[in-house]
Amino acid sequence: MRLSQYFLPVLKEEPKEAQIVSHRFMLRAGMIHQEAAGIYSWLPLGLRVLQNIENIVDDELQKAGCVPVLMPTLQPTDLWKESGRYDALGKEMLRFNDRAERELLYSPTCEEMIVNLFSAYVKSYKQLPLNLYQIQWKFRDEVRPRFGVMRGREFLMKDAYSFHVDVDDAKREYAKMYDAYTAIFKRMGLTTIAVAADSGAIGGNLSHEFQVIADTGESAVYYDAAFDEIRAGKLTLSGDEMRALYAAADEQHKPDAIPADRLRTARGIEVGHVFYLGQKYTQAMGVAVSGGDGAQVTPHMGCYGIGVSRLAGAIIEASHDENGIIWPESVAPFDAGIINLRMGDAACDTVCEQIYSHLKTAGLSPLYDDTDKRGGEKFATMDLIGLPWQITVGPRSAADGKVELKYRRTGEKSEISVEDAVAHITGQRTKRLAA
Ligand code: ATP
Ligand code: MG
Repeated sequence: MRLSQYFLPVLKEEPKEAQIVSHRFMLRAGMIHQEAAGIYSWLPLGLRVLQNIENIVDDELQKAGCVPVLMPTLQPTDLWKESGRYDALGKEMLRFNDRAERELLYSPTCEEMIVNLFSAYVKSYKQLPLNLYQIQWKFRDEVRPRFGVMRGREFLMKDAYSFHVDVDDAKREYAKMYDAYTAIFKRMGLTTIAVAADSGAIGGNLSHEFQVIADTGESAVYYDAAFDEIRAGKLTLSGDEMRALYAAADEQHKPDAIPADRLRTARGIEVGHVFYLGQKYTQAMGVAVSGGDGAQVTPHMGCYGIGVSRLAGAIIEASHDENGIIWPESVAPFDAGIINLRMGDAACDTVCEQIYSHLKTAGLSPLYDDTDKRGGEKFATMDLIGLPWQITVGPRSAADGKVELKYRRTGEKSEISVEDAVAHITGQRTKRLAA
């Protein structure tokens, strides 16, 4: 992409409404634009990040055997009267009437709709287990929308729902999803702590929240010191081993359950939540399938959410410096930025075009700053938008076929040839994505 043809409305002033760093950088880097409290447009740069996050989620879930569907954002409220949750969500649920005076709601979550869908087609235990998921917009009329996309009113969620003949199979799936979540967040450069949590209005009796440790997090988390070693990369544990460690959300914390010298406490951002629901919804909505022996059985369910749009903010909270965002390779909106320090200079233009086309041929996505802005401004923008690599081309080095390569995360710079720069970026990227 050539910046002169792109839409990257970078802000020079500090946005006054932003209280936390991710919100500030997302506004300044031209990723999002607020349309109403807690309701945002995703601008091109933000959209690329959001889509990268979605792709990782999709990929890992499909590896785990989940099947994608897409349900509408609007639902008839009748389903919620069947499940008994019509009143439970109160004012958080946005309701309105269509022209025929039928009451609709904008989905805050989809247990009712998926159970309805399931019951239309699944009649036998032979069709189970089944785990259906979607990545779809949700609306919750939050009392205090804040922190940008971290607590929006309209937000993008991955929601998965699984169906099983018995509790053992549901618990097996629960563990599988727990492990898939750990892998998903790791691929985004995040180490999460899964804390035992309250199931809230969703119901059920087994649940974990996946928390990213950050001072700006809204939740208090209590956990075993081993998680700090995992976060530091000094310890690797299996899902079963992690589940055996103490980790609890505020309302679940029992000081006696862990020796004081093992206990750590921190703030966390909830990026995902897994629940074992049991038969709560299938029972309330009268759903049954034929069991092996001919008798009818009420399926057990699990449900599993990920805050896809919240993740864009959470990743920034976990990875930035005073100059801007530092994107992990896996979610970066572009792989590398090319800075032409003197547009119109024959050597600079030629070298920049070479790098631009070589990177594209290598399968990477470069963002080429081909505007006539001053060098200082171009550097500031590149640091702000946080692409993993920056390649600067100035008249003196360009004449010798050399460029300056900078790695955003460490600030490390080297002067190398065009070919070496492309080879280095490609090689390092492959290595990091595999890690
Ligand atoms: P929270 O405790 O943060 O309000 P929740 O428990 O209400 O979240 P869930 O019903 O578990 O949320 O939804 C699944 C995921 O959706 C959450 O783990 C979170 O990452 C995300 N999420 C929930 N509410 C919002 C919101 N208002 N804005 C952005 N993401 C959200
Ligand atoms: Mg939750």
